[in-house]
Amino acid sequence: MADITSEIKKRRTFAIISHPDAGKTTLTEKFLLYGGAINLAGSVKGKATSRHAVSDWMEIEKERGISVTSSVLQFNYDGYCINILDTPGHQDFSEDTYRTLMAADSAVMVIDASKGVEAQTRKLFKVCVMRHIPIFTFINKMDRDANDTFELLDDIEKELGIATCPINWPIGSGKEFKGVYERGSRKVTVFRDTEKGTKEGLAEEIAVDSPELKAFAGEEHYGQLMDEIELLDGASAEFDQELVDKGELSPVFFGSALTNFGVEIFLKHFLHMTTPPLPRMADIGEIDPIKEDFSAFVFKIQANMNKAHRDRIAFMRICSGRFDAGMEVYHVQGDKKQRLSQPQQMMAQERHVVDEAYAGDIIGVFDPGIYSIGDTICMPGKKFRYEGIPTFAPEHFARVRQVDTMKRKQFVKGITQIAQEGAIQIFQEYNTGLEEIIVGVVGVLQFEVLKYRLENEYNVEIRLENLPYEHIRWIENEDFDLNSLVGTSDMKKVKDMKGNPLLIWVNSWSIGMTLDRNPGLKLAEFGRQ
Ligand code: GDP
Repeated sequence: MADITSEIKKRRTFAIISHPDAGKTTLTEKFLLYGGAINLAGSVKGKATSRHAVSDWMEIEKERGISVTSSVLQFNYDGYCINILDTPGHQDFSEDTYRTLMAADSAVMVIDASKGVEAQTRKLFKVCVMRHIPIFTFINKMDRDANDTFELLDDIEKELGIATCPINWPIGSGKEFKGVYERGSRKVTVFRDTEKGTKEGLAEEIAVDSPELKAFAGEEHYGQLMDEIELLDGASAEFDQELVDKGELSPVFFGSALTNFGVEIFLKHFLHMTTPPLPRMADIGEIDPIKEDFSAFVFKIQANMNKAHRDRIAFMRICSGRFDAGMEVYHVQGDKKQRLSQPQQMMAQERHVVDEAYAGDIIGVFDPGIYSIGDTICMPGKKFRYEGIPTFAPEHFARVRQVDTMKRKQFVKGITQIAQEGAIQIFQEYNTGLEEIIVGVVGVLQFEVLKYRLENEYNVEIRLENLPYEHIRWIENEDFDLNSLVGTSDMKKVKDMKGNPLLIWVNSWSIGMTLDRNPGLKLAEFGRQ
C-alpha cells in the first residue's frame, strides 16, 4: 500500500485556460510527451489520430451503459503525479468549463504571443481570481512574429489586473526567434529550429555573458537583450512565492508549444512553484488533504446523450485522504451510505477502472441520478459539506416555447432536470405571473443540447426565441424592494428556480447605470448555490 502522505504531496492538479487556438491542446500534448504518457502528437483531442480510440471507448461505454468524455489526464513526471483538467473550449464552452476550475489547484494560462489576452481567457481568469489560485502564464507561438514583450506583459497586467514576473525572456520572435534567457541562471537556452514544426527545439544553453551568445544571436538582438534585462531587473516585480500562492503574481514563461521549445523549462519551474493539494473549506472548517480520511465533491455531471440510457457520470475531485475501490462512503446530500460504482480515471487517452486514488485526483463514477453538482462524499460517520460551487453568469438567453402545450408536465419535468444537471439555467419573468420560461446558457451549444434532449428524452418539442440580453447579476441585498428598483430601458427583472431575483441587461454599461440609480443596491457576478 502506498504511503498516503507522499502520494498526496506529489500530486499537482491544474487546468489549462486559453482562448481557442492559443495552443492549449498542443501544449498539453507536449506535457504528455514528457510524462511518457503518449508518444504521438495529436492524440489529446478527438483529432484524426485519436478518433479510432475514442470511438472504441464509446462502444464499450454503450455496452456498460455509461458515457464519458475525457475530463482529466494523469501522468507522472519528475517525481510528480500530474492531473491536467480538461477545460472544454470552442463550441463546447459551457458552465462545465468554469466548474472544472473549481476542481483545480492552479491554472496555466496560455496566451498567443501575437494576440495577447483574448475574450475566453478573460472569462476563465475571473474564476481563478475568485478562487485565489496560483496562475502561471505561458506565452506561446514565439516562433511566429510576436507583440513587443513589454506590451504583452502590460496587456496581462492591465486587462487582468494581476502583476507579472517573467521567469525567462525571449530573444526575438518569428524567424528571428533565438531562444529564451533565464533570469535566475543567467543562461540562454537557444532555439535552433532547423525543420520548422517537425523537429523538437534543442535545449542547448549558453551563459548570457559568453561571446558565443553574441555571435549566435547577432549584435542587434544581443544589444536589445542587454537593454531589456536591465529594464526588467529595474522595473518588473520580483518573484515572490507567497504572492504567487495567493494568485496575485503570475510567473511568466515564453516558448513555442508546436516546436516544443521552452515547454520542459516551463514544466519544471511550474511544478516546483505550483501547489500540491491544499486544505479546502467545508462547513465545519478547513479539511486537511492529508490528515483527513477520504472526502470529495462533485464538480461536473456528464449526462448521457443516448436516449436508451439516462445514466450519468459524476466527476469528483478528491479533496482528502485515499479512495479505495469498493469502500463504503457516505453521500452527505443524499444522506446515504454507498459504494461508488465503476470509478474511473483517464490516463492520457486510456480510461481505466481505478483501485485507488488520492487527494488531488479526479474520479468519474457511475451516477444513477442521485448526485448534484457541489455534493460532498465522505466517510461514513463523518458529515460535512464542501463549499458549494457558484452559479456562473449565462451570456445567452432565449425564451422557450412548447410546441404542444398539452405536454406541460413533461416539459417542466424535463427542463427542470436538465437545469439541475447544471447544463442550463432557467428563469421566469419577475412579478408578471407569465408562465413563460427564459433559459440562460454560458455556451450557445447548450441551446441545441436542450432542444435535443427534451425531444429525445422527454418527447417534448420546443421552440427557442433568442433574446438580446447578455449580462446578468444576482442581487445580494436580502431586503431590497425590487418593485421600487429604477432600471434602464434594456433591463429585465427575472427570478430563478428558487425565487431569487436577478437582473438581465442587453448592454454592459447599463449595469453601472442601474447601480448609480439605486444607491445601496449590491450586485454579484456569481450566484450562490
Ligand atoms: P487550442 O485551441 O488552444 O487547443 O489550440 P491548438 O493547440 O489546437 O493550436 C491551434 C493552432 O495553433 C494549431 O494549428 C497549432 O498547430 C498551432 N500552434 C500551437 N502552438 C504553436 C506554436 O507554438 N507555434 C506555432 N507557429 N503554431 C502553434
